[in-house]
Amino acid sequence: MFQINDNYQKLPGSYLFSTIAKKVAAFSEANPDKTIIRLGIGDVTQPIAPAIIDAMHKAVDEMADAKTFRGYAPDLGYEFLRKAIADNDYKARGCDIEADEIFVSDGAKSDSGNIQEIFGADNRIAVCDPVYPVYVDSNVMAGRTGTYDAATGMWSNVIYMPCTRENNFVPEFPKETPDMIYLCLPNNPTGTTITKAQLQEWVDYANKVGAVIIYDGAYEAYISEDDVAHSIYECEGAKTCAIELKSFSKNAGFTGVRLGYTVVPKELKCGDVSLHSMWARRHGTKFNGAPYIIQRAGEAVYSEAGKAQLKEQIAYYMKNAKTIKSGLQETGFEVYGGVNAPYIWLKTPDSMTSWEFFDYLLEKANVVGTPGSGFGPSGEGYFRLTAFGSYENTVAALERIKAL
Ligand SMILES: *Cc1c(COP(=O)(O)O)cnc(C)c1O
Repeated sequence: MFQINDNYQKLPGSYLFSTIAKKVAAFSEANPDKTIIRLGIGDVTQPIAPAIIDAMHKAVDEMADAKTFRGYAPDLGYEFLRKAIADNDYKARGCDIEADEIFVSDGAKSDSGNIQEIFGADNRIAVCDPVYPVYVDSNVMAGRTGTYDAATGMWSNVIYMPCTRENNFVPEFPKETPDMIYLCLPNNPTGTTITKAQLQEWVDYANKVGAVIIYDGAYEAYISEDDVAHSIYECEGAKTCAIELKSFSKNAGFTGVRLGYTVVPKELKCGDVSLHSMWARRHGTKFNGAPYIIQRAGEAVYSEAGKAQLKEQIAYYMKNAKTIKSGLQETGFEVYGGVNAPYIWLKTPDSMTSWEFFDYLLEKANVVGTPGSGFGPSGEGYFRLTAFGSYENTVAALERIKAL
Protein backbone atom coordinates (compact mmCIF):
# COMPACT_ATOMS: atom_id res chain seq x y z
CA MET A 1 0.00 0.00 0.00
CA PHE A 2 1.48 3.32 -0.99
CA GLN A 3 1.85 6.15 1.44
CA ILE A 4 1.61 9.84 0.84
CA ASN A 5 3.91 12.62 1.92
CA ASP A 6 2.16 13.34 5.21
CA ASN A 7 3.64 16.80 5.35
CA TYR A 8 1.06 17.91 2.77
CA GLN A 9 -1.67 17.02 5.28
CA LYS A 10 -0.26 19.59 7.67
CA LEU A 11 -0.81 22.49 5.26
CA PRO A 12 -3.73 24.66 6.26
CA GLY A 13 -6.01 25.46 3.32
CA SER A 14 -4.90 28.44 1.28
CA TYR A 15 -8.13 30.36 1.67
CA LEU A 16 -6.93 33.86 0.90
CA PHE A 17 -7.55 34.31 -2.82
CA SER A 18 -10.43 31.81 -3.00
CA THR A 19 -12.22 33.58 -0.12
CA ILE A 20 -11.69 36.91 -1.88
CA ALA A 21 -13.05 35.49 -5.15
CA LYS A 22 -16.13 34.08 -3.39
CA LYS A 23 -16.89 37.32 -1.56
CA VAL A 24 -16.49 39.36 -4.76
CA ALA A 25 -18.71 36.94 -6.74
CA ALA A 26 -21.43 37.07 -4.06
CA PHE A 27 -21.31 40.87 -3.98
CA SER A 28 -21.47 41.07 -7.79
CA GLU A 29 -24.47 38.79 -7.91
CA ALA A 30 -26.35 40.81 -5.29
CA ASN A 31 -25.36 44.14 -6.91
CA PRO A 32 -25.31 43.62 -10.68
CA ASP A 33 -25.36 47.40 -11.32
CA LYS A 34 -22.06 48.05 -9.48
CA THR A 35 -18.68 48.00 -11.27
CA ILE A 36 -15.96 46.50 -9.16
CA ILE A 37 -12.36 47.72 -9.40
CA ARG A 38 -9.77 45.11 -8.54
CA LEU A 39 -6.60 46.33 -6.86
CA GLY A 40 -6.03 42.99 -5.15
CA ILE A 41 -3.98 40.52 -7.13
CA GLY A 42 -0.29 40.88 -7.86
CA ASP A 43 -0.48 40.38 -11.61
CA VAL A 44 0.60 42.89 -14.24
CA THR A 45 -1.78 44.33 -16.86
CA GLN A 46 0.42 46.16 -19.40
CA PRO A 47 1.28 44.23 -22.60
CA ILE A 48 4.78 42.90 -23.35
CA ALA A 49 7.02 45.71 -24.66
CA PRO A 50 7.48 45.92 -28.48
CA ALA A 51 11.25 45.23 -28.43
CA ILE A 52 10.56 41.99 -26.57
CA ILE A 53 7.70 40.99 -28.87
CA ASP A 54 10.01 41.55 -31.88
CA ALA A 55 12.65 39.26 -30.37
CA MET A 56 10.04 36.59 -29.70
CA HIS A 57 8.70 36.77 -33.28
CA LYS A 58 12.22 36.40 -34.63
CA ALA A 59 12.85 33.40 -32.40
CA VAL A 60 9.57 31.81 -33.49
CA ASP A 61 10.68 32.12 -37.13
CA GLU A 62 14.02 30.50 -36.29
CA MET A 63 12.12 27.52 -34.92
CA ALA A 64 10.37 27.11 -38.31
CA ASP A 65 13.63 26.54 -40.21
CA ALA A 66 15.73 23.36 -39.87
CA LYS A 67 18.93 25.43 -40.06
CA THR A 68 18.05 27.59 -37.04
CA PHE A 69 15.71 25.27 -35.14
CA ARG A 70 16.63 24.64 -31.47
CA GLY A 71 15.68 21.63 -29.40
CA TYR A 72 16.46 21.21 -25.72
CA ALA A 73 18.01 24.31 -24.28
CA PRO A 74 21.11 23.91 -22.09
CA ASP A 75 19.85 22.96 -18.58
CA LEU A 76 21.34 26.03 -16.98
CA GLY A 77 20.37 28.53 -19.68
CA TYR A 78 21.71 29.82 -23.00
CA GLU A 79 25.03 31.62 -22.82
CA PHE A 80 23.58 34.73 -24.56
CA LEU A 81 21.07 35.24 -21.73
CA ARG A 82 23.37 34.33 -18.85
CA LYS A 83 25.92 36.81 -20.18
CA ALA A 84 23.32 39.57 -20.65
CA ILE A 85 22.20 39.04 -17.03
CA ALA A 86 25.74 38.99 -15.64
CA ASP A 87 26.71 42.14 -17.56
CA ASN A 88 23.57 44.20 -16.88
CA ASP A 89 22.26 43.07 -13.50
CA TYR A 90 25.65 42.51 -11.86
CA LYS A 91 28.83 43.80 -13.52
CA ALA A 92 27.20 47.17 -14.39
CA ARG A 93 26.49 47.54 -10.66
CA GLY A 94 29.95 46.55 -9.56
CA CYS A 95 28.91 43.03 -8.47
CA ASP A 96 31.41 40.35 -9.35
CA ILE A 97 28.98 37.65 -10.57
CA GLU A 98 29.95 35.50 -13.57
CA ALA A 99 27.60 34.15 -16.24
CA ASP A 100 28.21 30.58 -15.03
CA GLU A 101 26.92 31.47 -11.56
CA ILE A 102 23.50 32.24 -13.08
CA PHE A 103 20.89 29.47 -13.47
CA VAL A 104 18.06 30.37 -15.85
CA SER A 105 14.62 29.04 -14.90
CA ASP A 106 10.91 29.39 -15.59
CA GLY A 107 10.36 31.89 -12.78
CA ALA A 108 11.06 32.81 -9.20
CA LYS A 109 8.10 30.99 -7.71
CA SER A 110 9.51 27.62 -8.73
CA ASP A 111 13.04 28.59 -7.70
CA SER A 112 11.91 29.93 -4.32
CA GLY A 113 9.93 26.72 -3.73
CA ASN A 114 12.67 24.38 -5.00
CA ILE A 115 15.80 25.90 -3.48
CA GLN A 116 15.11 24.38 -0.04
CA GLU A 117 15.73 20.90 -1.53
CA ILE A 118 19.50 21.31 -1.34
CA PHE A 119 19.40 22.01 2.41
CA GLY A 120 19.21 19.61 5.34
CA ALA A 121 15.91 18.48 6.80
CA ASP A 122 16.85 19.80 10.24
CA ASN A 123 17.58 23.34 9.13
CA ARG A 124 15.54 26.02 10.81
CA ILE A 125 14.06 28.71 8.58
CA ALA A 126 13.42 32.34 9.46
CA VAL A 127 10.86 34.39 7.54
CA CYS A 128 9.51 37.90 7.70
CA ASP A 129 5.93 38.18 8.92
CA PRO A 130 3.90 39.05 6.78
CA VAL A 131 5.45 36.99 3.98
CA TYR A 132 5.12 35.64 0.42
CA PRO A 133 3.56 32.23 1.27
CA VAL A 134 5.80 30.06 -0.96
CA TYR A 135 8.81 30.15 1.39
CA VAL A 136 6.95 28.64 4.34
CA ASP A 137 4.69 26.26 2.40
CA SER A 138 7.57 24.68 0.44
CA ASN A 139 9.36 24.02 3.74
CA VAL A 140 6.15 22.55 5.21
CA MET A 141 6.04 20.10 2.30
CA ALA A 142 9.64 19.14 3.07
CA GLY A 143 8.84 18.52 6.75
CA ARG A 144 10.98 21.31 8.12
CA THR A 145 8.43 23.45 9.95
CA GLY A 146 7.05 21.42 12.90
CA THR A 147 3.37 21.70 13.79
CA TYR A 148 0.84 24.36 12.88
CA ASP A 149 -1.06 26.29 15.52
CA ALA A 150 -4.31 27.45 13.95
CA ALA A 151 -4.92 29.92 16.79
CA THR A 152 -1.69 31.86 16.18
CA GLY A 153 -1.27 31.00 12.50
CA MET A 154 2.32 29.97 13.24
CA TRP A 155 4.51 26.86 12.78
CA SER A 156 6.39 25.56 15.83
CA ASN A 157 9.73 25.26 14.01
CA VAL A 158 9.69 28.49 12.00
CA ILE A 159 11.32 31.66 13.26
CA TYR A 160 9.06 34.63 12.53
CA MET A 161 10.46 38.12 12.15
CA PRO A 162 7.57 40.57 12.49
CA CYS A 163 7.74 43.55 10.13
CA THR A 164 5.28 46.18 11.32
CA ARG A 165 5.05 49.93 11.70
CA GLU A 166 6.59 49.50 15.18
CA ASN A 167 9.94 48.50 13.65
CA ASN A 168 9.48 50.49 10.45
CA PHE A 169 9.08 47.17 8.55
CA VAL A 170 12.77 46.33 9.09
CA PRO A 171 13.25 42.69 10.20
CA GLU A 172 15.28 42.36 13.41
CA PHE A 173 17.84 39.63 14.12
CA PRO A 174 15.86 36.82 15.78
CA LYS A 175 16.59 35.60 19.31
CA GLU A 176 17.03 32.02 18.09
CA THR A 177 19.63 31.38 15.41
CA PRO A 178 18.21 30.40 12.01
CA ASP A 179 19.99 28.27 9.37
CA MET A 180 18.10 29.66 6.38
CA ILE A 181 16.84 33.24 6.20
CA TYR A 182 14.31 34.27 3.56
CA LEU A 183 14.35 37.96 2.65
CA CYS A 184 12.18 39.53 -0.06
CA LEU A 185 13.26 43.13 -0.69
CA PRO A 186 11.63 45.35 -1.80
CA ASN A 187 8.88 43.43 -0.06
CA ASN A 188 5.68 41.80 -1.16
CA PRO A 189 3.21 42.42 0.54
CA THR A 190 4.31 45.51 2.50
CA GLY A 191 5.89 47.41 -0.41
CA THR A 192 8.63 48.56 1.98
CA THR A 193 12.36 47.89 1.85
CA ILE A 194 15.57 48.40 3.82
CA THR A 195 18.69 50.41 3.09
CA LYS A 196 21.87 48.93 1.69
CA ALA A 197 23.55 49.54 5.08
CA GLN A 198 20.79 47.55 6.81
CA LEU A 199 21.13 44.74 4.26
CA GLN A 200 24.89 44.70 4.90
CA GLU A 201 24.10 44.02 8.59
CA TRP A 202 22.08 40.97 7.53
CA VAL A 203 24.91 39.71 5.36
CA ASP A 204 27.36 40.16 8.26
CA TYR A 205 24.95 38.39 10.60
CA ALA A 206 24.49 35.44 8.22
CA ASN A 207 28.24 35.05 7.75
CA LYS A 208 28.75 35.22 11.52
CA VAL A 209 26.12 32.61 12.48
CA GLY A 210 26.68 30.38 9.42
CA ALA A 211 23.23 30.92 7.92
CA VAL A 212 22.31 31.15 4.24
CA ILE A 213 20.16 34.03 2.98
CA ILE A 214 17.65 33.26 0.23
CA TYR A 215 17.20 36.73 -1.26
CA ASP A 216 14.12 37.30 -3.45
CA GLY A 217 14.68 40.36 -5.63
CA ALA A 218 11.49 40.12 -7.71
CA TYR A 219 10.75 43.85 -7.26
CA GLU A 220 14.26 45.20 -7.82
CA ALA A 221 13.22 47.18 -10.92
CA TYR A 222 10.88 49.33 -8.81
CA ILE A 223 13.61 50.69 -6.55
CA SER A 224 13.68 54.49 -6.76
CA GLU A 225 15.81 55.46 -3.75
CA ASP A 226 19.59 55.68 -3.95
CA ASP A 227 20.48 54.00 -0.67
CA VAL A 228 18.69 50.73 -1.55
CA ALA A 229 20.70 47.78 -2.94
CA HIS A 230 19.63 46.40 -6.33
CA SER A 231 21.33 43.09 -5.55
CA ILE A 232 22.45 41.50 -2.29
CA TYR A 233 25.88 41.08 -3.93
CA GLU A 234 26.37 44.84 -3.58
CA CYS A 235 27.03 43.95 0.08
CA GLU A 236 30.48 42.83 1.08
CA GLY A 237 30.67 39.14 1.93
CA ALA A 238 27.33 38.22 0.31
CA LYS A 239 28.96 35.69 -2.02
CA THR A 240 29.72 33.41 0.93
CA CYS A 241 26.20 33.49 2.40
CA ALA A 242 23.55 34.43 -0.17
CA ILE A 243 21.53 32.98 -3.03
CA GLU A 244 19.62 35.55 -5.09
CA LEU A 245 16.37 34.84 -6.94
CA LYS A 246 15.15 37.09 -9.75
CA SER A 247 12.09 37.09 -11.95
CA PHE A 248 11.15 38.70 -15.26
CA SER A 249 7.50 38.83 -14.17
CA LYS A 250 7.30 42.20 -12.48
CA ASN A 251 9.99 44.15 -14.37
CA ALA A 252 9.00 42.99 -17.87
CA GLY A 253 5.46 41.65 -17.53
CA PHE A 254 6.47 37.98 -18.00
CA THR A 255 3.87 36.57 -15.55
CA GLY A 256 2.39 34.54 -18.40
CA VAL A 257 5.61 34.23 -20.42
CA ARG A 258 7.63 32.63 -17.57
CA LEU A 259 11.32 33.36 -17.00
CA GLY A 260 13.53 33.85 -13.97
CA TYR A 261 16.98 33.04 -12.66
CA THR A 262 18.87 32.10 -9.53
CA VAL A 263 22.41 33.16 -8.64
CA VAL A 264 24.47 30.68 -6.64
CA PRO A 265 28.00 32.05 -6.24
CA LYS A 266 30.85 29.55 -6.46
CA GLU A 267 32.19 30.81 -3.14
CA LEU A 268 29.03 29.72 -1.32
CA LYS A 269 30.00 26.54 0.52
CA CYS A 270 28.95 24.32 3.40
CA GLY A 271 32.28 22.94 4.61
CA ASP A 272 33.92 21.75 1.36
CA VAL A 273 30.64 21.28 -0.48
CA SER A 274 29.78 23.81 -3.18
CA LEU A 275 26.12 24.83 -3.29
CA HIS A 276 26.71 25.88 -6.89
CA SER A 277 27.49 22.25 -7.83
CA MET A 278 24.48 21.01 -5.87
CA TRP A 279 22.08 23.43 -7.57
CA ALA A 280 23.61 22.59 -10.99
CA ARG A 281 23.01 18.89 -10.26
CA ARG A 282 19.47 19.54 -9.08
CA HIS A 283 18.63 21.80 -12.02
CA GLY A 284 20.18 19.36 -14.52
CA THR A 285 18.21 16.45 -13.10
CA LYS A 286 14.80 18.02 -12.66
CA PHE A 287 14.63 20.85 -15.20
CA ASN A 288 15.09 20.73 -18.96
CA GLY A 289 15.70 24.40 -19.60
CA ALA A 290 13.57 27.47 -20.21
CA PRO A 291 12.25 27.71 -23.81
CA TYR A 292 14.57 29.21 -26.46
CA ILE A 293 11.91 31.72 -27.59
CA ILE A 294 11.45 32.94 -24.04
CA GLN A 295 15.18 33.21 -23.37
CA ARG A 296 15.47 35.40 -26.50
CA ALA A 297 12.63 37.50 -25.04
CA GLY A 298 14.65 37.74 -21.83
CA GLU A 299 17.73 38.84 -23.76
CA ALA A 300 15.67 41.68 -25.34
CA VAL A 301 14.88 42.97 -21.84
CA TYR A 302 18.53 44.09 -21.77
CA SER A 303 18.59 45.68 -25.24
CA GLU A 304 18.65 49.48 -25.43
CA ALA A 305 15.09 49.62 -26.80
CA GLY A 306 13.88 47.05 -24.28
CA LYS A 307 15.38 48.95 -21.36
CA ALA A 308 13.79 52.23 -22.48
CA GLN A 309 10.36 50.65 -22.98
CA LEU A 310 10.45 48.86 -19.63
CA LYS A 311 11.48 52.02 -17.85
CA GLU A 312 8.24 53.54 -19.12
CA GLN A 313 6.23 50.52 -18.04
CA ILE A 314 7.62 50.68 -14.50
CA ALA A 315 6.97 54.44 -14.44
CA TYR A 316 3.35 53.76 -15.44
CA TYR A 317 2.83 51.42 -12.48
CA MET A 318 4.70 53.69 -10.10
CA LYS A 319 2.48 56.59 -11.13
CA ASN A 320 -0.42 54.40 -10.00
CA ALA A 321 1.40 53.72 -6.74
CA LYS A 322 1.84 57.43 -6.17
CA THR A 323 -1.83 58.07 -6.98
CA ILE A 324 -2.91 55.46 -4.44
CA LYS A 325 -0.46 56.54 -1.78
CA SER A 326 -1.08 60.29 -1.94
CA GLY A 327 -4.84 59.80 -2.34
CA LEU A 328 -5.00 57.64 0.76
CA GLN A 329 -2.79 60.02 2.74
CA GLU A 330 -5.03 62.98 1.83
CA THR A 331 -7.97 60.98 3.12
CA GLY A 332 -6.20 60.44 6.43
CA PHE A 333 -5.03 56.85 6.02
CA GLU A 334 -1.73 55.67 7.46
CA VAL A 335 0.12 54.32 4.41
CA TYR A 336 3.41 52.50 3.77
CA GLY A 337 5.30 51.24 0.71
CA GLY A 338 4.68 52.43 -2.83
CA VAL A 339 8.08 54.14 -3.23
CA ASN A 340 10.38 51.23 -4.11
CA ALA A 341 7.65 48.69 -4.88
CA PRO A 342 4.25 48.55 -6.64
CA TYR A 343 2.43 47.74 -3.38
CA ILE A 344 0.71 50.04 -0.92
CA TRP A 345 0.28 48.71 2.61
CA LEU A 346 -2.25 50.62 4.64
CA LYS A 347 -3.16 50.47 8.30
CA THR A 348 -6.85 49.69 8.59
CA PRO A 349 -8.77 52.58 10.19
CA ASP A 350 -10.75 52.43 13.44
CA SER A 351 -9.08 49.19 14.58
CA MET A 352 -10.89 47.21 11.89
CA THR A 353 -9.49 43.75 11.20
CA SER A 354 -8.07 43.16 7.73
CA TRP A 355 -11.19 41.24 6.67
CA GLU A 356 -13.58 43.82 8.15
CA PHE A 357 -11.84 46.47 6.06
CA PHE A 358 -12.01 44.19 3.01
CA ASP A 359 -15.81 43.93 3.37
CA TYR A 360 -16.16 47.65 4.06
CA LEU A 361 -14.16 48.62 0.97
CA LEU A 362 -15.98 46.12 -1.25
CA GLU A 363 -19.44 47.19 -0.08
CA LYS A 364 -18.96 50.93 0.17
CA ALA A 365 -16.45 51.65 -2.62
CA ASN A 366 -16.71 48.46 -4.71
CA VAL A 367 -12.92 48.22 -4.58
CA VAL A 368 -11.12 44.91 -3.99
CA GLY A 369 -7.80 44.67 -2.14
CA THR A 370 -6.02 41.97 -0.15
CA PRO A 371 -6.40 41.54 3.62
CA GLY A 372 -2.99 41.75 5.30
CA SER A 373 -3.76 38.88 7.69
CA GLY A 374 -3.66 36.55 4.67
CA PHE A 375 0.14 37.00 4.55
CA GLY A 376 0.81 36.13 8.19
CA PRO A 377 -0.28 36.99 11.73
CA SER A 378 1.60 40.31 11.81
CA GLY A 379 -0.32 41.38 8.69
CA GLU A 380 -3.51 41.64 10.78
CA GLY A 381 -4.79 45.21 10.82
CA TYR A 382 -3.18 45.99 7.46
CA PHE A 383 -4.40 45.87 3.87
CA ARG A 384 -2.61 45.64 0.49
CA LEU A 385 -3.48 47.56 -2.66
CA THR A 386 -1.50 46.99 -5.86
CA ALA A 387 -0.38 49.48 -8.49
CA PHE A 388 -0.72 46.89 -11.29
CA GLY A 389 -4.14 48.07 -12.51
CA SER A 390 -4.78 50.58 -15.29
CA TYR A 391 -4.26 54.25 -14.47
CA GLU A 392 -7.96 55.00 -15.19
CA ASN A 393 -9.14 52.31 -12.76
CA THR A 394 -6.63 53.41 -10.14
CA VAL A 395 -7.84 57.01 -10.30
CA ALA A 396 -11.48 55.90 -10.20
CA ALA A 397 -10.84 53.62 -7.21
CA LEU A 398 -9.20 56.45 -5.28
CA GLU A 399 -12.06 58.83 -6.05
CA ARG A 400 -14.44 56.30 -4.56
CA ILE A 401 -12.29 55.79 -1.46
CA LYS A 402 -11.96 59.56 -0.95
CA ALA A 403 -15.75 59.87 -1.11
CA LEU A 404 -16.32 57.34 1.69
C1 LIG B 1 5.62 37.83 -8.17
C2 LIG B 1 6.65 37.31 -7.24
C3 LIG B 1 7.63 36.42 -7.67
C4 LIG B 1 7.72 36.07 -9.13
O1 LIG B 1 7.31 34.83 -9.44
P1 LIG B 1 7.42 34.28 -10.92
O2 LIG B 1 7.29 32.81 -10.69
O3 LIG B 1 8.77 34.63 -11.47
O4 LIG B 1 6.30 34.85 -11.72
C5 LIG B 1 8.58 35.98 -6.78
N1 LIG B 1 8.58 36.40 -5.51
C6 LIG B 1 7.67 37.27 -5.06
C7 LIG B 1 7.75 37.73 -3.66
C8 LIG B 1 6.67 37.73 -5.90
O5 LIG B 1 5.76 38.58 -5.43
